[in-house]
Amino acid sequence: MQVGVDVGGTKVLAVELAGEGDDLVVASSALVPMPGRSAADAEVEAVVVQAVLEVAAGRRLTGVGVSAAGLVDRDGERVRFAAHLPWRDAPVRDRLEARFADETSGGSTGGGAPRVVLENDANCAAHAELAAGALRGASSALLITVGTGIGGAIVLDGRVVRGANGMAGEFGHVQVVPDGLACECGLRGCWEQYCSGRALERVMRVALGSHLDGREVEGLARDGDPVAREAFASVGTWLGVGIAGLVSSFDPELVVVGGGVSAVGDRLLEPARRALADSIQATAHRDLPPLLAARFGPEAGAVGAALLARDYRTAPSSQGSRGSSDIRRTR
Ligand SMILES: [Zn+2]
Repeated sequence: MQVGVDVGGTKVLAVELAGEGDDLVVASSALVPMPGRSAADAEVEAVVVQAVLEVAAGRRLTGVGVSAAGLVDRDGERVRFAAHLPWRDAPVRDRLEARFADETSGGSTGGGAPRVVLENDANCAAHAELAAGALRGASSALLITVGTGIGGAIVLDGRVVRGANGMAGEFGHVQVVPDGLACECGLRGCWEQYCSGRALERVMRVALGSHLDGREVEGLARDGDPVAREAFASVGTWLGVGIAGLVSSFDPELVVVGGGVSAVGDRLLEPARRALADSIQATAHRDLPPLLAARFGPEAGAVGAALLARDYRTAPSSQGSRGSSDIRRTR
């Protein structure tokens, strides 16, 4: 069996898939919180293994797809940098393969250790949405994930574009405010400082003086709390402003928004649609792309990673489906 695992800034989600296309579903999953901001590489990797083994539940693992919130190198071997994780030029693929080899050799199931496939989380989400979600059949599209930070993926000619170094689509760290808010990446004024789960929490903290997580803010907004609603409007407006710049650059058929914060749907997307129309040149003289919610929402990264692990096993040389990845040819 194959498992996909999404490694984010605050939690690790592992999933097992069943079915294909429209019938593709998450058959089982495990969610493990990240061990604090100062965790070492080994602690993060231990949590990844724990989540995967929980889903495997004693069955023989043949492949593990890892979706990482960070810069993954061209060859899918290392995480070069991750703003919300400790990995710095870390050989994550080999380290995880070694850990799984240790785990499986101790078990009774026998048969070799699973192959690990490593890819950026937003690229994984794009694979999931291309294969069975909101990007199915799309030729040119953008995917934006709004979670702890912002991730992005570019689809051209029906394929995920990885860039010269595997780092394309890092829209979250495009500077939108010169000398703006400090970002965990070391720069200032990055888009994700104004449009992310962290941004939502910060707006609430400034207004109320207390810490609330994204789920609590959504609960307040649902109950009509004006401060919470204003916080979503702010984050949504910044989402649309950023997307306007990307639409000007890429002129995509559609833009899909995923990630944890996107689970609120139109509370985020409506202000984003308005801001997109207000922030792009020649609004009255162009067709703006639809701005849609991702089918797999916060699970898209893990689902895409599981698909990469599955594809790698079953079709290393086939000329593929729309969701096919460059990654299999680089190994
Ligand atoms: Zn940044």
